[in-house]
Amino acid sequence: MIKFVCDDCGHKFEGMDCEYCASVYTAPVKCPKCGSWHTMPSGIKGFFKRKIYNMIWESIDERQGNTE
Ligand SMILES: [Zn+2]
Repeated sequence: MIKFVCDDCGHKFEGMDCEYCASVYTAPVKCPKCGSWHTMPSGIKGFFKRKIYNMIWESIDERQGNTE
């Protein structure tokens, strides 16, 4: 279990640490508070990694048919 932070509501919670599509990045976990998938490990800092997570979130949204 690792700490996650929700990008939408800022909620911090613990979740499973598993790799996203066999990459070195941790797969986002659904926020227990607002239900958003736009979450990332709370240790993540820096513009580059944020960009990576933006791409991951986009592909998750696509997979769910959510074009929001
Ligand atoms: Zn949230």
